[in-house]
Amino acid sequence: MRIGARKPRRKARFFFFVLIVALLGCGLWLALRVGPAPEVELRTDRPAIGKATTVIAGFSEPTHGLGSIRLELIQGDRVEVLEQRSMKRGSLLPWSGDHGTAEVVLTTIVGTTGFDWLDDGEVVLRATADRSVGYLRRGEPVVVETTLPVRLRPPRLELLSSQHYGQQGGSGAVRYRVGETAVKSGVRAGTHESPGSALEGGRPGDYFAIFALPWNLDDAGEIRLFAEDDAGNRVELAFLDLFKPLSKRVDTIRISDSFLERVVPAIASRTPGFDDSPPLLEQYLVINGELRRAELGRVAELAAQSEPSFLWSGPFLQMTNSELKANFAQTREYLYDGREVDRQTHLGLDLASTARAPVPAPNAGRVISAGWMTLYGNAVAIDHGFGLMSLSGHLSSIDVTEGDAVDRGQVIGRSGTTGLAGGDHLHLEIFVHGQSVDPLQWLDGKWIEDNITSKLTGDI
Ligand SMILES: [Zn+2]
Repeated sequence: MRIGARKPRRKARFFFFVLIVALLGCGLWLALRVGPAPEVELRTDRPAIGKATTVIAGFSEPTHGLGSIRLELIQGDRVEVLEQRSMKRGSLLPWSGDHGTAEVVLTTIVGTTGFDWLDDGEVVLRATADRSVGYLRRGEPVVVETTLPVRLRPPRLELLSSQHYGQQGGSGAVRYRVGETAVKSGVRAGTHESPGSALEGGRPGDYFAIFALPWNLDDAGEIRLFAEDDAGNRVELAFLDLFKPLSKRVDTIRISDSFLERVVPAIASRTPGFDDSPPLLEQYLVINGELRRAELGRVAELAAQSEPSFLWSGPFLQMTNSELKANFAQTREYLYDGREVDRQTHLGLDLASTARAPVPAPNAGRVISAGWMTLYGNAVAIDHGFGLMSLSGHLSSIDVTEGDAVDRGQVIGRSGTTGLAGGDHLHLEIFVHGQSVDPLQWLDGKWIEDNITSKLTGDI
């Protein structure tokens, strides 16, 4: 009996000992534990600080959650806390399911607009996140820093060419010099920008731009030469000596049922997703409105692929023995059954000759698109370089394919009535950086010499 009674007591002592060791182990783990390092990421929308640069700081720690985080702006001895937050961490017990705040993104604007003490030079952006640690440990926080240049002055911009005569809906060229901090420059006309390119054979910083003046912009004060640096500092200056508004031209187009029956189903059947259930006139209005705008958007995409070299030379060619039937920027009133049903602006030249007349490449270049282009029907778009592009539309047949290099005057197809065409004719449209411009200027050798060629050469 006495021997038997001693055994359970020894067993209990053993379990007690194991329990103490386990508790001590847990305690030590709690005291010395180091949680995973939070991930910290710093991004900015610009590579430099100017008036306003967006700073995005991302913090994440999905296991125990984030504790406190901080974002600071430092220049010299000055440290400005941009944002600071403290969050309650998740539970330490792995089975609790409480992971705290796993992710925080701080977004703020840094620049001279909000911090007028910033000087030219450099700043440091610092993002800090503390780390979950045990009671006996001092946790080293995770710190991510990025150094950015501060630029308070816009780049230098100097006009080199002179005597710029602009026409609403027209084109032009300008030569200028920019400071080395410029990353973007050119001509702004309203919301349209014609980007400049480095001038071959010029001094460092010498640029030129072939520019478009949109047909629907009549305010000369909105036409400016500009340069911008990577901090978003921008300088603009007026450079036009004269600006001629466009004379208003209105043309009336009568839409007949036989016309609708010929053109609408032909376009509808070739336009994916087109709803051909409404009456023909309604379908026609969708083609003349929505599809017209969509097609111009596609043209702007093609223009962005323009080669940075002069592929053309001399005046652009008009189709041989053709007569001008409709002009550029002509307002068209569309009448159906005697009432006005639509109004659009015609943005090319309509040239008529005999039916199926040979159509020349208006100038040398590379075929950038050859095929069906909705309203334009069968069309050939040619890139002439530095944002200059021509489009020949309503063709009955096409003799070139995309990628072909073409010579000035080379036959690219035959005139026709495809797309939105009343009768056999050629629609010739010229684009400068995706913007339709008056083709008559480009058909005129003297105009090209006075307004393009002479602006790109010569001394200052
Ligand atoms: Zn036309």
